[in-house]
Amino acid sequence: MRKVPGLELAGRVSGFCLFLAAMAHFGLAQSAPLLAADPKIRAALEDVSAQQIQANIEKLVSFRTRSTLSAQDPAAIASGRGIGAAREWIKSEFERYSEDCGGCLEVKTDSYTQEPGERVKEPTVITNVYAVLKGTDAENAKRMVLVTGHYDSRNSDNYNLTDDAPGANDDASGTAVSLECARVLSKLKFPATLVFLTVAGEEQGLYGSRHFAQMAKDQGWDLEAVLNNDIVGGDKSPEQDHSRIRVFSEGVPAAATDQELRRIRTLGGESDSTSRQLARYTVDVGRTYQLGVQPMMIFRQDRYLRGGDHFSFNQQGFAAVRITEFREDFHHQHQNVRMENGVPYGDLPRFVDFDYVSQVARLNAATLGSLAAAPAPPANPRLLTKDLENDSTLTWDASPGGLATAYELLWRTTTSPEWEHAQKVGNVARTTMKMSKDDVIFAVRACDQAGHCSLPVVPAPER
Ligand SMILES: [Zn+2]
Repeated sequence: MRKVPGLELAGRVSGFCLFLAAMAHFGLAQSAPLLAADPKIRAALEDVSAQQIQANIEKLVSFRTRSTLSAQDPAAIASGRGIGAAREWIKSEFERYSEDCGGCLEVKTDSYTQEPGERVKEPTVITNVYAVLKGTDAENAKRMVLVTGHYDSRNSDNYNLTDDAPGANDDASGTAVSLECARVLSKLKFPATLVFLTVAGEEQGLYGSRHFAQMAKDQGWDLEAVLNNDIVGGDKSPEQDHSRIRVFSEGVPAAATDQELRRIRTLGGESDSTSRQLARYTVDVGRTYQLGVQPMMIFRQDRYLRGGDHFSFNQQGFAAVRITEFREDFHHQHQNVRMENGVPYGDLPRFVDFDYVSQVARLNAATLGSLAAAPAPPANPRLLTKDLENDSTLTWDASPGGLATAYELLWRTTTSPEWEHAQKVGNVARTTMKMSKDDVIFAVRACDQAGHCSLPVVPAPER
């Protein structure tokens, strides 16, 4: 229970009445939102292996360079050098996991030729490799949750294809997270669909993810959440915090229309994008499963003036966050492997903390599993504003897909970064709270009997 400043001023006589009033106003009786831990997901998290992740990162490094501009002809693939060989190996890994689950994964590629442009001189084939674990429920299988990392790498010079570009942290670590999530979650079944993606062309300008996100948009995918893991190796520099992982999320959506921007400005909605709800959800997941690495939300689209593949999805209107280690070491990113004045440069496996990556993989797997097991978010939530009143009435349409058995209202003060309160309101489509919509931000989420809950959705005003 959170302390409310000023409550001790209540005094003895009228204390109880004031306490009740405060309860109604601040929702004191409610606890902060959590999810119920799912024993199957918990078992899958135990299955996540630091040794497997280490083996995968070392294998990716063994291709010497995974530059998107490096060779991918049959001879190069046979020689085990270059991005083509890396791509074929990732594909074979997904296929191996699929064999272990009786063909449960559909392993696919999304390939196109990038014409010369930024950091690409020649027409270049860019191939994304992904595996799909189709949902078991016909209606809910349309809903998708996706995890991605980029498997391409680079060294000091974008066009240097001869020297090593090990990219152990950037981003074999993120690729290993996608692979490990596929391996452990493919042993389970979920009503909604999971997509395990690895993309190329990131280092030249997010080419692969842009193509993939465009495809998802064009094909009308109901993509509820995207987790982009880029540099999640927990570099072993002295200032590293191995208990925290940064989760970046956009505030004002990149894809917001003018009308949406106007509403955001008017209602103070700058911290309520779907991506931000996803970031908050990862925090709830981290607490629910008491993981060894806890998310630290950064309310910013990405690191200062830098970018990543989640942005490709944000641009198409999807909820997407970037997950990155607490502290980056720039001696170990985009550098030729060398010693200079006694300082080692290069993105080598020996700087990666494989236990840390495995904790990050657990955070991802738990988030993916929780969302894929949950009902769809309630549709079309509205906050009624026809009459001026101090109560707040919310309505919504049932969560599509029929998994929801109850709805929960979440709220927080306008200055709070996280949802502070949750209240079950039953299997209804309307509720009235004794609280003014002027003073708090509301959201509603759909839950099932087992305590799986959807992402919360903030209502739109209805006059
Ligand atoms: Zn990267």
